[in-house]
Amino acid sequence: MSSNEFKGVMVFSEDFEILLELLGKGRELADKLQTELSAVLIGHNIEDERGKELIKCGADKVYVVDNPLLEQFNVEPYTDVLSKLASDYKPEIILIGATKRGKELAPRLATRLNTGCMTECSKLDIDEEGRLVVNRLVYGGSSIAIEVSRVKPQIATVPPHVFEKPAPSDRTGEVVKVEVDVKEPKTKVVERKKKEIVGVRLEEAPIIIAGGRGLRSKEDFKLLEELAKVLGGQVGCTRPIAADYGWFTNWIGISGVKIKPKLYIAVGISGAIQHTAGIMDSKIIVAINKDEEAPIFKAADYGIVGDLYKVVPALTEAFKKLLK
Ligand SMILES: Cc1cc2nc3c(=O)[nH]c(=O)nc-3n(C[C@H](O)[C@H](O)[C@H](O)COP(=O)(O)OP(=O)(O)OC[C@H]3O[C@@H](n4cnc5c(N)ncnc54)[C@H](O)[C@@H]3O)c2cc1C
Repeated sequence: MSSNEFKGVMVFSEDFEILLELLGKGRELADKLQTELSAVLIGHNIEDERGKELIKCGADKVYVVDNPLLEQFNVEPYTDVLSKLASDYKPEIILIGATKRGKELAPRLATRLNTGCMTECSKLDIDEEGRLVVNRLVYGGSSIAIEVSRVKPQIATVPPHVFEKPAPSDRTGEVVKVEVDVKEPKTKVVERKKKEIVGVRLEEAPIIIAGGRGLRSKEDFKLLEELAKVLGGQVGCTRPIAADYGWFTNWIGISGVKIKPKLYIAVGISGAIQHTAGIMDSKIIVAINKDEEAPIFKAADYGIVGDLYKVVPALTEAFKKLLK
């Protein structure tokens, strides 16, 4: 197929909120290419309102594929549907939300379409040749790779919350219902269980106080919990605290959760690149460390050099008085 046959930008995520986030970036890319932006809705008994909302948030077209076999996400039929849409409508760019499910889906789709897949892209733009150019963190977050795809469609996955959801406006567009012959998947989901989450998910928490190996025991995290309670925040940690000591189930960083709170306080954390790669989207970073040479101070907006066992209780007391 000649590369001129491809036209338009298509976005998909099985998570509606992330689909909206992709629309904002998709609109920008489509405008630069002076082409059409389409969004894909897959599921069963899909409400008409969803299509309308996607148009208000930037889509020119919404392809709706509604089928009982698509009620729950299953990577096999979802890949069938997306590859059928991509083959019929030939978008030059396909953006997929890099959720757990999107990460399963995107490389399968790329294989079906005989193209490449650029994963976990943090920056996307169009170059002077009209190609999609992406930035991706590589080597544990210590470097940025700038990539283009030699073939079309150019598929890229985008992690959640990299882009803001666009504000709805009075736009018009078209909702197209597409019939796709959906086959029963070869795999069957036997049971679904909701993951128990205490409090707000770290990815969504506006204030995070995280502890590292500077804390000597699990009990000492109570100091951070007290500060978090006063500020209305959540407690997080570095990888060794969770993966080596088992004091928490997840951690912040390149191999864990990437966060973008308004305020991030790093307590007894050295600031290894694998950790800081996951906190760089925080609005304000405060570091507390007894070693003034600790690399975390390079990433921080404010630094307190001192013993966390003295600084944290003092901060908690000060905020208690201030916020009374
Ligand atoms: C492939 C790979 C992926 C990784 N992914 C991640 C990741 O996603 N997230 C992550 O966090 N790590 C990750 N790591 C691990 C990372 O390289 C670091 O080892 C880790 O972040 C260090 O954790 P830390 O800061 O808690 O501990 P340390 O590096 O041991 O730092 C402890 C800090 O506490 C300070 N301190 C000690 N006592 C006190 C005190 N009383 N008061 C104040 N300060 C004190 C010290 O000065 C020191 O700076 C990864 C590593 C690899 C190889």
